[in-house]
Amino acid sequence: MPTNEMCDECGAPQVEGFTCWEQLGGLIAWEYTDPALHAQHFLVVACYNLQHPAQFSAAALAGLWIGFNDYLDHGVSTATLRQRAARHYAGATRVLRPEAEHQPQLQRWAMTIADVYLPDQPEGVVERLFRWARIIQAYHVAAQA
Ligand SMILES: [Zn+2]
Repeated sequence: MPTNEMCDECGAPQVEGFTCWEQLGGLIAWEYTDPALHAQHFLVVACYNLQHPAQFSAAALAGLWIGFNDYLDHGVSTATLRQRAARHYAGATRVLRPEAEHQPQLQRWAMTIADVYLPDQPEGVVERLFRWARIIQAYHVAAQA
C-alpha cells in the first residue's frame, strides 16, 4: 500500500515503509558492496544532512556547506575535510542543536534521498547521488544570491 507519509523536513516520501532516515541507512548499506558508492560516503551524508538542517547549529551548517562545495567544485579530499572538521569541532563549538530547539521546516526539493535510494535499482546510484548533490548546491547558490 502506498502511503502519503513523508518526512516533515526534506519532504521525501517513505519508500517501502522506510523513512528517509532508514533510506539513508539503506544507501550506506549499499556502500559495502559498491566501492564507487563507498568512495562517495562523504557526499551521501552531506547531502542528507543539508536536507535536514534543523539539527545543526548555524556554525556547523556553514562549515558543512563550505566542505560540500569544496568537495564538489574543488576536489578537496575527504581526508582534508575530516581534518578540517576535527580542528573546527575540537573546541567548544556546538555541532548539534539541543533537541528542544529543533524546528524542522518542510522544504520541497526536486530530489530527495527517495530519488537516490531506489531499492530495486542499486545500479546508477552514484550518478543519482551527484544529481542530488548538484540540486542541493544550486538551491544553496540561489538562496545566497
Ligand atoms: Zn527527510
